[in-house]
Amino acid sequence: MRRLLLAPHPDDAVWSCGGMLRQWCREGGLTVVTVFDGDGHEEGGPRGGDRDTGGGGGDGVPARRRAEDAAALAHWPVRTVGLGLPEAALRRDRAGRSLYAGPLALRRAPHPADAGLPVLLAGLLEPLVEDHDEVLLPLAVRTHTDHLLVREAAELALAARGDSVPRPVRARYYREFPYAPPPPPGGYRERAEPADFSDWLRGALMYESQVRGMFRDARPFARALARRTGAPRRCTWTSWERDAA
Ligand SMILES: [Zn+2]
Repeated sequence: MRRLLLAPHPDDAVWSCGGMLRQWCREGGLTVVTVFDGDGHEEGGPRGGDRDTGGGGGDGVPARRRAEDAAALAHWPVRTVGLGLPEAALRRDRAGRSLYAGPLALRRAPHPADAGLPVLLAGLLEPLVEDHDEVLLPLAVRTHTDHLLVREAAELALAARGDSVPRPVRARYYREFPYAPPPPPGGYRERAEPADFSDWLRGALMYESQVRGMFRDARPFARALARRTGAPRRCTWTSWERDAA
């Protein structure tokens, strides 16, 4: 089974799914695509002032986050692809104004200027989807605008294959850490699988700027990840599939 893991930002793949990466690499290979890992515009305004979850005061310079991502993903034999789009906090309109000014609120609807992004992104994802058997995408319930955009684009790319293609590509939704979304609405099947906590934590702590910005240091981060996954007693990774219509 060849898997394609879609990460809106550097850190989403490892923070949300890190305990599964070794198994997925063994089972047929894994490609991690990071969508919003680009530099954005630099004129005016502080760079990277908004964190993924809209809080914290870590260092969000894109180059640094890319370097942390590369170092973390080097723990596993994954193929990595960066699409180079700027994250929401760095996107600007034609006049140079921030599309998402102020702290990047959770659950914020995409700005009208981002309306074309899902289709553009879906076009970039289609050939990647075609090369894999399963796509892992963010659940994007009560999370970040960029997560919603990635989910929408991935669903468009999957739908574009149509039902006429004999080889199915499955979609599996993962819950983004450290967000705490409610369970998805009806129509989804939940699955919890054993995951490797030490592998997960070791990779996740490589995102130093994000750990510092959101959790201050490694210990509260480790506690939060343990709470989420049930570690150390039994670490699980939870995901959802849509019920067949
Ligand atoms: Zn994210």
